Amino acid sequence: MNIQWYPGHMTKAKRAMKEDMKLIDLVIELVDARVPLSSRNPDIDDLGAGKARMVLLNKSDLADEGQTARWAAWFEDKGIHVVKIDARNKGTLKQVQSVIQDACKEKIERDRRRGILNRPIRTMVVGIPNVGKSTFINSFAGKACAKTGNKPGVTKGNQWIRLNKTLELLDTPGILWPRFEDQQVGLKLALIGSINDQILNKDELAWELIRFLKKRYPQVLSERFGLETEGKEAAFILEEIARVRACLLKGGDLDVSRAAALLLDDFRAGKLGRITLEEPENQKDKVG
Ligand code: GDP
Repeated sequence: MNIQWYPGHMTKAKRAMKEDMKLIDLVIELVDARVPLSSRNPDIDDLGAGKARMVLLNKSDLADEGQTARWAAWFEDKGIHVVKIDARNKGTLKQVQSVIQDACKEKIERDRRRGILNRPIRTMVVGIPNVGKSTFINSFAGKACAKTGNKPGVTKGNQWIRLNKTLELLDTPGILWPRFEDQQVGLKLALIGSINDQILNKDELAWELIRFLKKRYPQVLSERFGLETEGKEAAFILEEIARVRACLLKGGDLDVSRAAALLLDDFRAGKLGRITLEEPENQKDKVG
């Protein structure tokens, strides 16, 4: 995955998104429910000012249910409509359409006062890479969607996808850039696998995960690997994981890096259980 994070690209992408925003009524922002804050760029608050707003807490199948409910309340507190979804599972998307109508109530009412009936809501899906934008669009739009072609007043090249009678989607990548200034954000995004493991090496990433799990989900490592972790250092625990999973190098030494990769894969696939890496009450949550 290629993240465009250097300023030139960011400025250009931001300008393009600002232009696109002029065309739309509703911003549908996808975030990763395991890191709802770290997986969003707060610039969207400026970019989407004056628009109806909606946040989809995606990958909620992997996140801690209790924390997801608290995050939903946190966004709602800010006047943003929220639905928790698993974009791969159509059943979880049923609520989305009615929440869209709800989020756009004012626009629909304004149209009606002007005698405009049934003008479709124009929306745009945005989010940082890997939060599930394409998966969501494919599941939500299904096969029924069709490109509507250009219309008068619409910037040349902008394609609209007709999702249903009441909804049109602007066909743009809608890519926001992650906030790399904050080390913790980079760390959390690396843990969920949204950026290449370049920020830290895999061993260090695994240690950070182990420290976090020990603190917030202390039973997880003992349940998954049958380990006693109380009072043990992360590096020691990782070696133990290498031992119980028989991660060995040719000469018989422990292959700690393989154990690190295995632990991270388990976490990312939800095999350690449903885990959220940050809490709304403690927004500066450190993973380590
Ligand atoms: P995009 O870069 O925002 O368009 O993200 P994609 O739609 O390509 O999704 C990135 C990865 O996340 C893919 O492997 C998807 O299968 C996976 N994914 C998307 N939504 C979900 C979800 O709700 N739950 C889980 N477990 N995986 C998801």
